[in-house]
Amino acid sequence: MSRFLAKKFEGLKPYTPGEQPQNQKLIKLNTNESPFPPSPKAVEAAITEAKKLNLYSDPACRVFLSALSEHFGVGTEQVFASNGSDEVLAFLFQALSENGAAFADQTYGFYPVYCNLYGVIPKIIPLKDDFSIDPKDYYGLKETIFIANPNAPTGLALSLSEIRGILDHNLNTLVVIDEAYVDFGAESAVPLLKEYDNLLIVGTFSKSRSMAGARLGYAVGSEELIADLNRIKFSFNPYNVNRMTLAAAAAAIRDRAYFEAARDEIIKTRTDTIDALRKRGYLCTDSKANFIFVRNPDMPGKEIYQKLRERDILVRWFDIERIRDWLRITVGTREEMDALLAALKEIGG
Ligand SMILES: *Cc1c(COP(=O)(O)O)cnc(C)c1O
Repeated sequence: MSRFLAKKFEGLKPYTPGEQPQNQKLIKLNTNESPFPPSPKAVEAAITEAKKLNLYSDPACRVFLSALSEHFGVGTEQVFASNGSDEVLAFLFQALSENGAAFADQTYGFYPVYCNLYGVIPKIIPLKDDFSIDPKDYYGLKETIFIANPNAPTGLALSLSEIRGILDHNLNTLVVIDEAYVDFGAESAVPLLKEYDNLLIVGTFSKSRSMAGARLGYAVGSEELIADLNRIKFSFNPYNVNRMTLAAAAAAIRDRAYFEAARDEIIKTRTDTIDALRKRGYLCTDSKANFIFVRNPDMPGKEIYQKLRERDILVRWFDIERIRDWLRITVGTREEMDALLAALKEIGG
C-alpha cells in the first residue's frame, strides 16, 4: 500500500477471481467459461470491426442494444450495455443501494466486495440447509435485493412465481435478478418487467454466449432505471464497451442456432455428469447452471481439489466454512468431463 491511498480503502478486500493459468495442458473447470468458441459469425464481426479501432465505440451501443431489445421483446430504452455484468452490478451498488444491499450468504462473491468498495451496508441472508433460497426471507426489505438466479455456486434456481412473490412484497424496493446462468435451465424474469417497475434484470455474454473475454454485460428494466444507469455510466466512462465486442455480440444474438446447440450440449453433459457422480455416492445439487456443485461425503473438498490439480484438472474450491467440502466444477466438453470422472475414480471418489 502506498502512502497515497485513501484511508477508506485501507481495509478493502478485493474479489478473488478463479485462477487463469497460462498452462495450455490444464483442463480448466474453475471459472464457468464456455468450453466452446463464440459463434463464427461473432468472430467474423469482431474481425471486421477491428479495422475501425481508431474510432471510439458508440457510447449509446445502438447496434448491440437494438439486437438485445429485439431479443427480449422490450423497448430500446429498456436495455443497457456494460463492460461485463460486473460493471452494471458495480453501478447498482454504487448508485441504487442507498438503503443497503440484501443478498444470500453463499452467492456471487462480488456482492460483498462492492458493498465494501462503495460503503453499502450488507444484509446477509443465509440460504436454507439445503442451499435453497427461502423467498419469504426477502419479503418486506428496505435494502436493494440482489439474487443470482440460478445462484452461484449452488446452481439452484427460484421459479418465476417465487420471484413474483419477492417482487409483490417489495413494491418500493429494487429487486435485481442476476441471470448470469439463466440460459442453462432456469426461467428468465424478463417477462415480469411488464408488471413490475421494481425489477431489474442483469445478464452477461460471459457464460452461455461464450464471450467471457469480450467483457459484455447488460441490464433490462424500466426506462427510468435504465436512464439512471446511463446517468452513472456517462459520469464515469461513456465508451464502456469496445467496438469489437459490440459488433460480435449483435452477431451472436442473431445466431440463435449456434447458441442453442452449445447450450443444449452443456445441459446434456451436465445431466450425465451429475448422474455418474450420484451413482458413485457424491452429493450434487440440482444445478440449473453451467457448473455442478458437488461433495464427496468421504473426502474433504480441499483434498479432492488438490488431487485434481495434480492431475491437471482445475476446479473451484472455496475456503469458506459452510461450503468447504463442496466443489464447483464448470461443465466442460464431454471429453473434459470424462477426464474429470476418470481422475476422480483414480483419487478414490
Ligand atoms: C460470471 C458472473 C457474473 C459476471 O460476469 P461478467 O463476466 O462480469 O459479465 C455476474 N454474476 C454472476 C452470478 C456470475 O457468476
